[in-house]
Amino acid sequence: MIIALDGPSGAGKSTVGKELAQIMGINYLDTGAMYRAVAYLKMKRKIRDDDEEKLVHALENATFEFKFENLKTTVILDGLDISAELRDPAISQEASRLSALSPVRRIMVTMQRHICAQGDFVVEGRDIGSVVFPDTPYKFYLDASVQERVQRRHQQLEKQGVQSDLDYITREIEIRDHRDTHRYDSPLRRMDDAMYLDSTDLSLPEVVSILVNAVETKMKKNSII
Ligand code: C5P
Repeated sequence: MIIALDGPSGAGKSTVGKELAQIMGINYLDTGAMYRAVAYLKMKRKIRDDDEEKLVHALENATFEFKFENLKTTVILDGLDISAELRDPAISQEASRLSALSPVRRIMVTMQRHICAQGDFVVEGRDIGSVVFPDTPYKFYLDASVQERVQRRHQQLEKQGVQSDLDYITREIEIRDHRDTHRYDSPLRRMDDAMYLDSTDLSLPEVVSILVNAVETKMKKNSII
């Protein structure tokens, strides 16, 4: 079983996705963390922006591990836990830029399908229902207004001890929204067969409850339970 959870930055996909996975008793994969790990690798290895070949080579030879325990995603690159580094706003921008490169996406999508072949997953990202798992019947598009997403991102960063200001986050989210929806390869888009949910005025338990009900209704229809 794959539950695809797509939507723009800061719409609450991670928080909702983790809760949903816990309630359903299945795994959770944060594909954004995977693109962030690509950005980390590029920055650490000091690979030039125009050296796509070197980046692809580095990606193909790196060892990534993604673990999800106690509602926390851990990303291990070549044996080193890099999870804490991945929330830096500079990493967010670089991840968004690099995720537009088709060879990078090809490697990540292969990795995502390989990871998810090992069990049932809630998978969050931008292209999960459209490209990575287009055949799953469980597809959601989680949205929220830009102002609300800015507030949520601000609170999230504060909790993680990362300094930020609202103007900066607004610009950062608008740039990423534009890039993610306008790129040539696998842009973020609402699929006709995905359930659309605007969470601007909803609490976390409300959103989770709507998704759990929707999944269970679909499961009954498909006679899984
Ligand atoms: O979700 P998160 O903000 O961590 O994702 C970081 C960046 O990775 C996004 O801005 C987006 O450009 C990219 N991404 C993607 N496809 C995914 C997940 C994330 O292009 N499935």
